[in-house]
Amino acid sequence: GSNKLVNKLKTELKKKDLDKEIEIITTGCFGLCALGPVVIVYPEGVFYSKVEEKDVPELVEEHFVKGRILKRLVYNEAIEKEKIRALNDVDFFKKQKRVALKNCGVINPENIDEYLAFDGYKALEKVLLNMKPDDVIQEIKDSGLRGRGGAGFPTALKWTFAKNAKEDQKYVVCNADEGDPGAFMDRSILEGDPHSVIEAMAIAAYAIGANQGFIYIRAEYPIAVKRLAIAINQAKEYGLLGENIFGTDFSFDLDIRLGAGAFVCGEETALMHSIEGGRGEPRPRPPFPANKGLFGKPTVLNNVETYANIPKIILNGAEWFASVGTEKSKGTKVFALGGKINNTGLLEIPMGTTLREVIFEIGGGIPNGKKFKAAQTGGPSGGCIPAQHLDTPIDYESLAEIGSIMGSGGLIVMDEDTCMVDIAKFFLEFTVEESCGKCPPCRIGTKRMLEILEKITSGKGEEGDIEKLEKLAQNIKDSALCGLGQTAPNPVLSTIRYFRDEYEAHIKEKR
Ligand code: SF4
Repeated sequence: GSNKLVNKLKTELKKKDLDKEIEIITTGCFGLCALGPVVIVYPEGVFYSKVEEKDVPELVEEHFVKGRILKRLVYNEAIEKEKIRALNDVDFFKKQKRVALKNCGVINPENIDEYLAFDGYKALEKVLLNMKPDDVIQEIKDSGLRGRGGAGFPTALKWTFAKNAKEDQKYVVCNADEGDPGAFMDRSILEGDPHSVIEAMAIAAYAIGANQGFIYIRAEYPIAVKRLAIAINQAKEYGLLGENIFGTDFSFDLDIRLGAGAFVCGEETALMHSIEGGRGEPRPRPPFPANKGLFGKPTVLNNVETYANIPKIILNGAEWFASVGTEKSKGTKVFALGGKINNTGLLEIPMGTTLREVIFEIGGGIPNGKKFKAAQTGGPSGGCIPAQHLDTPIDYESLAEIGSIMGSGGLIVMDEDTCMVDIAKFFLEFTVEESCGKCPPCRIGTKRMLEILEKITSGKGEEGDIEKLEKLAQNIKDSALCGLGQTAPNPVLSTIRYFRDEYEAHIKEKR
């Protein structure tokens, strides 16, 4: 509803002759979706939430004409604490640390001047004028940054392989093909701060010796696509993309490629095949993209959030970044928090924050006084985490130990009423639908698993079905060609591991 809100605000301000004095700036998402649409008035910093079109005349009259805060629209928690001026005092933000999301909800993403005013393109200037490509890679290595797309591969290592590859033509690619159900991290970064990704891709290109980049983004993200296109054009106008950037001999150009919404195109080899104009199907690795990637040339491929961290690491230093997080998982991670939770939204937390802190402090707990049952991280590739693991620190290793994965950042919360077999079935239905069909373990195996789950949930389950599921799952994990198939059984395996009794209850019900 925010577009309607903007139009109404314009009309009402004009009526009061205030349209020259007060500027309306639209930003990207600032995170607390549960309270949207929000209006923040500066310089006071008053934070109005859940504003509707019908509220606008009163808001304009009270705030802008009479100079009074319209209390009924101010976030209650903040009013109680009489700290309505500072957004950071809202519980949702207190435990967060915004690095990748730093500018989201703050700047106008369609105006490059606002990005520049917040140190935009200073990191690119720094690397081009003061650092050698090896220094850039060393800085990223020292920061400990790992890929935020899910697997957690060290970013600097990928860049080193690509830099060392002996080829004249190299590419950098951004994976913006976010497709997990419930995930909207990359979308929000691109909608809220597209220049941070463009700047980071130029830095990566300089580090590995590339002069061309591609952003592969799904066409279902029209606002992100539009803002990216505006940002790329503005960067070109300002000489920040193109030839001789900052007067150096470094040149870099960037293009957008639209994906048609196939989940498998988030897999790097399928994504590159799709950019080349082919069908989005994975191929075996090796060769790895860093040696033989897009059009057969060395390619660095990172996801949106990974890139969004790069300019901040270059500007603030590796040590600053590495001081946040755990020993093996440095920095922060963005999550899209959804499901049975009070504060649905987008958050960025230091690695090592516990699930309990995320769900009960940042997320505000479970609605309607219900009990927490489980959280699903990593979407269809991840697993369910039950209440006994609420104090697990969120980092790559700890989540893997308890049978889930970090994934790209979808975090779905379930309450006591959720049937865990249904949840497993939901995710498996998704992967069956999205399997590209290239290899039999995934094409056929996941379908057989789904049939067994359907049998169990419709009361026709038999003794031995759980064991069959486990055996099939292991075979698929061991033999599927790409990550989609290899991880597809995870939701089933983790729900069997922690909620076997629910599977058994379904089977017993039948008798
Ligand atoms: Fe395609 Fe699935 Fe095989 Fe991946 S694992 S190549 S998605 S069939």
